[in-house]
Amino acid sequence: MRSKIVAGNWKMNKDLAETEVLLAELSAKLPDTKAEVMVAPTFVNLSAAVDKLKSSSIEVIAQNMHFAENGAYTGEISANMLLGIGVDTVIIGHSERRAYFGETDEILAKKVVAALAKNMRVMFCFGEELEDRKSGNHFKIVESQLKNALFSLDASAWSKIILAYEPVWAIGTGETASPEQAQEMHAFIRKTITNAYDTGIANNVSILYGGSVKPNNAVEIFSKPDVDGGLIGGASLVADDFIAIIKGIA
Ligand code: PEP
Repeated sequence: MRSKIVAGNWKMNKDLAETEVLLAELSAKLPDTKAEVMVAPTFVNLSAAVDKLKSSSIEVIAQNMHFAENGAYTGEISANMLLGIGVDTVIIGHSERRAYFGETDEILAKKVVAALAKNMRVMFCFGEELEDRKSGNHFKIVESQLKNALFSLDASAWSKIILAYEPVWAIGTGETASPEQAQEMHAFIRKTITNAYDTGIANNVSILYGGSVKPNNAVEIFSKPDVDGGLIGGASLVADDFIAIIKGIA
């Protein structure tokens, strides 16, 4: 059975004091939920977050990592560094990394392999841009993103993969894919994985939706059969909103 997951990507927001306040609020208000709840603070606050959430079920995850073991990569963070502070899940391929930091499918494939080699869990993000959707190329783009970064993996690696479908036109824009559009794409993703591997792998992988999920649309989006939760940006920065979204998981 695949897991339900709600993850908050805090991006470059919240200094240490703000991080501690938000984590305290989230821990205090966390409802009883079937979902695995995760938060991704900025790198400099990861250790503090791990410490703060020691006795909470909320998992601290990283927003990114480099593919090299170590070396002359100024400003970068390795898998071992994350593992060393107790972080063993990492987001790879966020659209902001692709758009602003030149992360190509080829680089992302290397990052995925590096994280899996250390037995980390990977939350792999992908999704089409507005022009792709307008021109009807969205399925083709999503299929190629999956193929280029993930389809060389052994079948056994898939137990460590979480997928986050995030149409770029819906991220931080207030515009959400309709629940039907999300379901249609998630079903397509499962079919694509079935074709590349098998139904077992396709049915066991959690596929999150990301893109302007808010308290007022979470229930409907999460009710779709192939949507296993969400990756939440803006709304995860406000404790009451994030908690309301978590409550949207049936
Ligand atoms: C994201 O950045 O992954 C995201 C989904 O952001 P938002 O919820 O703000 O659209």
